[in-house]
Amino acid sequence: CGIIGIVSHKEQRASIVASCLRLLEYRGYDSVGIAALDVGKVEVMKTVGGVEDLLKQVDVDSISSSVLVGHTRWATHGMPTFSNAHPHTDCSSKIAVVHNGTITNFDVLKEELTSLGHRFKSETDTEVIPHMMEEWIKKGLTSWEAFKRTVQALNGSYAILAVVSGERRIYFARKDNPLTIGLGKGSNYIASDAEAFVRFTRRVVRLMDGELGYIEADEVRIFDFTGKEIAVGERVMEIGW
Ligand code: GLU
Repeated sequence: CGIIGIVSHKEQRASIVASCLRLLEYRGYDSVGIAALDVGKVEVMKTVGGVEDLLKQVDVDSISSSVLVGHTRWATHGMPTFSNAHPHTDCSSKIAVVHNGTITNFDVLKEELTSLGHRFKSETDTEVIPHMMEEWIKKGLTSWEAFKRTVQALNGSYAILAVVSGERRIYFARKDNPLTIGLGKGSNYIASDAEAFVRFTRRVVRLMDGELGYIEADEVRIFDFTGKEIAVGERVMEIGW
């Protein structure tokens, strides 16, 4: 399973994400998916199978966006089906989330959200994340606050990326699943393995367990779970192989 996110000043083709996902397929997968942010909504392309299967079904070259996320899934909750493939969205399709790992308390959260009127489209543990963010945003929180509150409520393991329509930003959180940020020029990247974006940049920040934050095209903010900000500059490394 693997994750990739790209946020850029210029629009990038979704086919770039597809090529990054190919480099993550070695981690194992049963489904793949990509989300591109559009004005007003999130465009989701996904399928059971691998990147090649997605390319047969969707003209990824026709879709461009300054915010893109991609996922290869290794199912833990729910069979490998189209509806269980990531990205997962909220009711209004304005939030898209990709996740590796398992949310052990998802059943309690799902029940609560269902009682608040949320309709679930998949059997995954992951889908509670966009719905919970939506709920917090409805209550008046900013999407960043909503993301933090949501992550606080999760038990289990995760590498998460979340995007919200209308923003040029990717939220992330990591616990017991790898995530590395890549610092480019006019673009920043985040992936389970730097291999996915190493042809664009070798300047990286490896995230540690319990870290969360967001990347924009020219800004990276990282916090620990207590809310303390981490000085990104001190963590930058150059990778080479
Ligand atoms: N638990 C999630 C699912 O079953 C994510 C699995 C993964 O790590 O790919 O959809």
